[in-house]
Amino acid sequence: MELADRVQALTPSTTLAITSKAKALKEEGHDVIGLGAGEPDFNTPEDILNVAKKAMDEGKTTYTPAGGIPALKQAIIKKLQEDQGLQYNEKEIIVTTGAKHALYNLFQVLLNRGDEVVIPVPYWVSYPEQVKLAEGQPVYVKASEENDFKMTPEQLENSITDYTKAVILNSPSNPTGTLYTQEELKALGEVALKHDLIIVSDEIYEKLIYGSEEHVSIAQLSDELKENTVVINGVSKSHAMTGWRIGYAAGNQQIIQAMSNLSSHSTSNPTTISQFAAIGAYSMDQHKLNEMKDAFEERLNKLYEWMSEIPGISCVKPKGAFYLFPNISEVVANSPFDSTDEWVKQLLEEEKVAVVPGSGFGSPENIRLSYATSLENLEEASKRIARFVKKHS
Ligand code: PLP
Repeated sequence: MELADRVQALTPSTTLAITSKAKALKEEGHDVIGLGAGEPDFNTPEDILNVAKKAMDEGKTTYTPAGGIPALKQAIIKKLQEDQGLQYNEKEIIVTTGAKHALYNLFQVLLNRGDEVVIPVPYWVSYPEQVKLAEGQPVYVKASEENDFKMTPEQLENSITDYTKAVILNSPSNPTGTLYTQEELKALGEVALKHDLIIVSDEIYEKLIYGSEEHVSIAQLSDELKENTVVINGVSKSHAMTGWRIGYAAGNQQIIQAMSNLSSHSTSNPTTISQFAAIGAYSMDQHKLNEMKDAFEERLNKLYEWMSEIPGISCVKPKGAFYLFPNISEVVANSPFDSTDEWVKQLLEEEKVAVVPGSGFGSPENIRLSYATSLENLEEASKRIARFVKKHS
């Protein structure tokens, strides 16, 4: 059977192979430490669960408007006003089935065949695939490790052609944890505005920033930038709610309306109970989330230290999210393995530590370690990685 061209071009997730191998080894009884997780290892806070249970008891289990219930849109509007000083109305907000769905709809409504989208590398795995599914063309810009994995305004300028429609910014970033400063965003924004690009600002890790750094949304820097930016966010990472599948987009009314129309013919509304739970997430005492953030910060500091001590491994210290993205090119070069992918496979085989090869993020010199697991696991994993490096150098 011949499948559609659009899915033949889809590359399967590189993380999948390693995840299923790790699972198989675990089932065989091996002591596998998984550092592949893309989700907080905390339960959804009790306050949120209670709101969801109440919603169920009250029979909030039927269809809602495709773009989300007004009360949740109002909660999101309040959040954007309080956190970023951004003002939106309900027509400028769409609630989606996770932030991933917001991004998917956005590219579907923005791109015509051949339209280019600038994607800084390393990137989150789904950006290129989603752009391609919308018949767009990813244009990769290598953000250097020396520049903390950040794209410069010059790089953005040089990547723009007559076909460039949009640029993606993800701060803090998956997989690098890098965070753009206000000045850096302003400079990138000037280039984007000069060429009338849509800025896709994926802010899903906004609440997981460590040390004294602060999150800035490019949309808050000027009215022009707000008009050209679609902010993507959601409760998955901020409130440990990955399985509830609630995200949103905030931006130009015409874009948001088109995204809602698309949802109305594909998913319909995001799960009704989850929408009520998300209202609970935005209205609970946000200080209660600090416990999760503090735990992540402690783990980051330790894991960064442990990994940096391993000869041949270098790390840029992340400012947010829950990933470390060490460069292991020297280690691979000194080993019998001819690629990072091979090295990662063998690490799992011999030491039972599952990490994600950087190739899936466009950066084959690196590996991604998620610290959404206990300190004990991180310490043991670091020891095993150090032993593996030593054995094969
Ligand atoms: N954007 C980035 C950078 C992510 O890492 C993820 C999840 O891994 C998403 C978006 C999607 O989030 P959600 O679970 O809300 O769809």
